Amino acid sequence: MDPITAFVIATLMMLLNGGILGLIHRDLPEGLRPAAFSWRLGTLLVAGGCVLLAVQHALPPGFVLPLANAMLMLGLTSYWRALRQFDGEPESLHLLWPVLVGSIGIWWFSAMRPDLAARALFASATWMVLFIACARVLHRGGGRDPARSRRTLLGLFLFLASFMLLRGAYFAFAAHSVADILDGRSWMNMATPLVAAILPVIGTTAFLLMCSERIRRQWEHAASTDALTGLANRRTLTRIGSERLSRALTDGRAFALAVVDVDHFKSINDRFGHDVGDIALRHVADTLAGHASPGTVPGRQGGEEFVVLLDADPAEATREAERLRAAIRNAVFQAGDQRLAITVSIGVTAATAADRHLDDLLRRADQALYAAKTGGRDRVVLA
Ligand code: GH3
Ligand code: MG
Ligand code: MG
Repeated sequence: MDPITAFVIATLMMLLNGGILGLIHRDLPEGLRPAAFSWRLGTLLVAGGCVLLAVQHALPPGFVLPLANAMLMLGLTSYWRALRQFDGEPESLHLLWPVLVGSIGIWWFSAMRPDLAARALFASATWMVLFIACARVLHRGGGRDPARSRRTLLGLFLFLASFMLLRGAYFAFAAHSVADILDGRSWMNMATPLVAAILPVIGTTAFLLMCSERIRRQWEHAASTDALTGLANRRTLTRIGSERLSRALTDGRAFALAVVDVDHFKSINDRFGHDVGDIALRHVADTLAGHASPGTVPGRQGGEEFVVLLDADPAEATREAERLRAAIRNAVFQAGDQRLAITVSIGVTAATAADRHLDDLLRRADQALYAAKTGGRDRVVLA
């Protein structure tokens, strides 16, 4: 095999991959499409650059070399942009600086003062800068998104950056023995197209896995949280509550549960409308989440009823419920030009050795809640 064949095979693989990404593009959710589009554009630009490099002998070098290299660098910039879009980072024209500097360098050393070593150094350095920029984006977002595919892609970019360092060093010391980058006697010339194909082929697979992992996480989040308040939903409350109850029964750890019901909530809906009612529910939810102590899980059971799971004995749970009740009463809610003091009634119960299911606790807490309502509301009652 010679470098031209290697370039042609690499290009075909890239185009196939770009085509597949194009086919599945419509299946991606709206939020991921801009990033996927930039990634595909990157692949097509890199493929175009490789084609031009493969046919460079048929065209004037002062024209084809700057054009091919600019396409390759723009392609990598497009990958960089794709990763930034994936992580919701803002668009920036500064991303074009490496292409600009790299292209001018390549043009100077192919059209004005032809010099293979200088050209190869410029190209390798620019690629290295772009690879490191991509790796930095992946590293920055790694805290929020610990997907394995992201770490794989990060490793890939670091490998490619190291290869470019090696390539720069190779041309700095061995350029005199090489005619041009299609000279098949140089192992570096054979390796370059193969390494160039790694990113569009393996990188695209890792990028698609990052997309599917993102989608899975979004679904998981939607299935476990309440859409209106962002708190844990009933399903999650049942799961965590049951886990904590069985832990309490086996290890003897303290576990309690509080049912929190907004007082006279119907009248807020009736006076200000359902939309204001929704905002009031979010206000109560935010206050619960903001004042819950560590380990306490607040969730929305349904309607205007919340459940709070506590790792606490009856006395501690009552104190915490009292704290939450006071916090909600003191957090004034603004409905239009009116300030409303929303209050809640809370029924608290702690797990006992006789409890078998979470429903046993919920039933007891409901009875305590009923007592709080009939006792005048805006109070905590322990079952
Ligand atoms: P109490 O003090 O006895 O609890 O009185 P209440 O008015 O809070 O209780 P009631 O059960 O009579 O009314 C609850 C109201 O909550 C009725 C329902 O329309 C309203 N509601 C339930 N879910 C939602 C919601 O998601 N958004 C809004 N805006 N209202 C809701
Ligand atoms: Mg109510
Ligand atoms: Mg209710």
